[in-house]
Amino acid sequence: MRQKEISLNIQPEPDEFGDDHHGSSAADTPLRPDAFEMDDEVKIEKIEKHFREIMHILGLDLNDDSLNGTPRRVAKMFVKEVFSGLNPKNRPHARLFENKYNYDQMLVEKDITFYSHCEHHFVPIYGKAHVAYFSSGKVIGLSKINRIVQYFSKRPQVQERLTVQIGKELERILQTEDVGVVLDANHMCVASRGVGDTNSKTGTAYFSGKFKDENIKREFLNYINSK
Ligand SMILES: [Zn+2]
Repeated sequence: MRQKEISLNIQPEPDEFGDDHHGSSAADTPLRPDAFEMDDEVKIEKIEKHFREIMHILGLDLNDDSLNGTPRRVAKMFVKEVFSGLNPKNRPHARLFENKYNYDQMLVEKDITFYSHCEHHFVPIYGKAHVAYFSSGKVIGLSKINRIVQYFSKRPQVQERLTVQIGKELERILQTEDVGVVLDANHMCVASRGVGDTNSKTGTAYFSGKFKDENIKREFLNYINSK
């Protein structure tokens, strides 16, 4: 059984750089107003040049076959992959479906794998996102939830901000105030350097509307913790 796709007048998407065009809030990624004046190809060229310089300063021989392509590879990876979520043009488009079944219970999608980067060290943060919402009459394709998580992950991040950005985007797209997000993550900057703790995990949560209710919250968390 397939639901009929409908297009909706959702709130306008931010046209510039922020996630919230009513001015910057604590949940916004700090970006300059001119962040996307330069196109991707120019960014890749410049980053390549500078990364080559970093490697050179470290004493690496860039004439070596294995190292020679690294600056360009890293530059492309930054712009086109791991930090592609900085650019609003890569923001997933929301397609909503009518909630024809009048499903009025919580919908949970758990164990969404995400890969991000710590903005303090530029090393990976990775883990699982668990997302839940109550429909306000519209539902979203499940893969879209994954895309939203990936989009905000592909930025230099702090886990707290990533959690809030996912929660607020879901509220906006789903036109609901009832959203729950839990992130369970490993920080390579904690595991592979500094204190060198390979076992610790960091949990963060965003609860809005009905999810502030203890019983609803517990239902969500119980489901996350079930096998
Ligand atoms: Zn870090």
